[in-house]
Amino acid sequence: MGKRSKLIAANWKEHPKSAAEAFALFRAVAKAPRAPGVEVVVCPPFLYLEEVIREFKRMAPPARAQLAIGAQDVFWEDQGAYTGEVGPAMLRSLGAKYVIVGHSERRRFEKETDAMINKKIAAALRDGLNVILCVGESLSVREKGVDVAKKFVAQQLAKDLKDVLPKAGSLLVAYEPIWAIGTGRSDKPEDAREMALFIKKLLKQTKQISVKFLYGGSVNGKNAADYVQLNDIDGALVGGASLKADEFKKIINAI
Ligand code: PEP
Repeated sequence: MGKRSKLIAANWKEHPKSAAEAFALFRAVAKAPRAPGVEVVVCPPFLYLEEVIREFKRMAPPARAQLAIGAQDVFWEDQGAYTGEVGPAMLRSLGAKYVIVGHSERRRFEKETDAMINKKIAAALRDGLNVILCVGESLSVREKGVDVAKKFVAQQLAKDLKDVLPKAGSLLVAYEPIWAIGTGRSDKPEDAREMALFIKKLLKQTKQISVKFLYGGSVNGKNAADYVQLNDIDGALVGGASLKADEFKKIINAI
């Protein structure tokens, strides 16, 4: 990603129910025109990843320009006796370029801890994947004010990135306030921007790294421009609205 480039990532979560729907969705999204400097990343469930990447590789080079595929999670070992897990080397060899790590749904339902997330990030970056690290506070934290939310996010970042420095892959931070995910209640663009500046400054000071900042939480075709057109916000991580090709195309067009 260049300096003024933007990235829109689609997190399909556990959708759609059938492989046929998944491939149709991917084909529709892949056809959406992408303005110069806009990269679109599609993150399907693991099960569809191989077929989506095969489809991606079948496309002519101009059709797959500014398009990439990512996974929604990764394990921290490249291989071994870890039933059910998928490691970063496997994702790389398949052709995935990005991976989402630390999504609040995994923190909640899979009981992922910051220590686990930390190991996943280190392994993924080591193996050359670009990591989209998700952070964000709950409603009860945010109700105490934006400064309390910043403190919470700073603590998450300190734990998730302990002893981690981007190596082969690069790091992107997706700020996703939990209360905004899938609720239709998105953060105020000015508050998201304040968080972007805070996170970028913090990581510059503490780790000497520049990161791209994505906002996530009820982004749709109508409100996307309010976020992605701001200089300090480098794109969006989109859940629900990425499952409807037309809606997702509107988000891509918002840049
Ligand atoms: C997400 O889960 O990453 C997300 C941002 O979801 P939604 O866009 O549906 O709020």
